[in-house]
Amino acid sequence: MAKKNHYLLTHNLSHKIYNRIEALPIVDVHNHIDAEQLTVPAKNIWDLMCAKDHYILELLNSFGVAQSFLLGRVSDREKFRIFSENFYKFSGLPSRDWFLLDLKNNFNIEIKTLDPSNEDHVWKKSLSILAGGHLTPAAIIRNSNIEIIGTTNEPWEDLRVHQQGIAGLSRNPLRPSFRADSLIKIWDPRWKKDRLPRLGLTKFPRFSAYLEAIRKRFSYFMNHRNLSVDIAIDEPEFSAVDFKTAEHIFKKCLEDSNLPKNERDNFYSYMICEVMSEWCYAAGIPLQLKIAALRDQRKMGVPDGSDISDHTITFRSLAFLANKYDPEQIRTPKSAIFISIKDPAGYPGQAELARIFPNIYYSGSWWTQDSPEGLETGLRLRTPIAGYYKGLHFYTDARSLTVFRSRFDMFKRVLANHLAEQIDKGRLTESLAFRIAEDLSYHEPKRLFKIS
Ligand SMILES: [Zn+2]
Repeated sequence: MAKKNHYLLTHNLSHKIYNRIEALPIVDVHNHIDAEQLTVPAKNIWDLMCAKDHYILELLNSFGVAQSFLLGRVSDREKFRIFSENFYKFSGLPSRDWFLLDLKNNFNIEIKTLDPSNEDHVWKKSLSILAGGHLTPAAIIRNSNIEIIGTTNEPWEDLRVHQQGIAGLSRNPLRPSFRADSLIKIWDPRWKKDRLPRLGLTKFPRFSAYLEAIRKRFSYFMNHRNLSVDIAIDEPEFSAVDFKTAEHIFKKCLEDSNLPKNERDNFYSYMICEVMSEWCYAAGIPLQLKIAALRDQRKMGVPDGSDISDHTITFRSLAFLANKYDPEQIRTPKSAIFISIKDPAGYPGQAELARIFPNIYYSGSWWTQDSPEGLETGLRLRTPIAGYYKGLHFYTDARSLTVFRSRFDMFKRVLANHLAEQIDKGRLTESLAFRIAEDLSYHEPKRLFKIS
């Protein structure tokens, strides 16, 4: 008989529930996979599993490995060696678990930890598997049973790979999401310099021409199986803002991008509440809001990550957005809004919004909350307020393809444990726990994101 894998499963019925969901396909509606990278096989294990993983890079950087080393011309072999020297410092972090699970799942390498005594073996074995062509992106997707890879994409991307699919796969798992941050943050110095030209606009466009250029890009995405609109916003302060006010701020920003906070809030309000959510509603697709992660707090260091959680979210202003699209008012609800926040201190407010409004769902746990502890906290704090069915419980936020399986596996195990505990407490029947486990792991993400 095969040995039972007890990893994270501690209750009597955890295994039984986990066995029901273990093999379900992966539907991931938010990640940062670069589709272009799926057209070429990885060169080595660092390239495949570490080089794009901002969790690993950020932590190595924080443990004292210089940015110039991690991103510089040093060989991947040397970077992997330094990673192995520092790997013990990943203890307690989910990245440690994912890395070891990824090694097992993708390379059939089973080790208890990575260290200088076994790193050469890991490097050579993984290199021979990659060189043999056994671990192409298509092979990883097949082996991991990934059905949907919901990427986030800048509005000007051509979505070439999304359109043509991945070599070796009969079914195309790639679905883009229209990432609107860079169009809304017009006060960002990169906006005038890089982003306007990418939209084919001159330096001083009219606001109406700007909106029209964005709308064209949105239509382009919709013609490429767009899954959602995805926006990250630091401190949402939504209120009713009309076209004239937004136009005035836009004009002002073209002259001087030093906008005061109230004008930035007003522009956010107009672009999200009047423009993007209107388009989502008309197209019948979800809006994903990633809230209160204060970006780029470290000015030096590796790119991506470097976010801290904000404790001062104004849920009242999210209620403004929710009210605008209340199905009681609009009658035919066509799209839902998924709100992710980083800080668990905000989970009650987040879940209360989901409890009140038919069109609002809590979403995540994500970024620094996707550990077993963070996932369990998400289930413990939010389900007593809004239940299991007003949430999108997990997405990978991943940068590398190999990690999908281990991250979803971690979520499924935490969910199985949580539900088993509810059965033990007499709060769930076994059959209902099975149903919830299957729904939350697979059926609900598909239903909520209208994936057929
Ligand atoms: Zn993300």
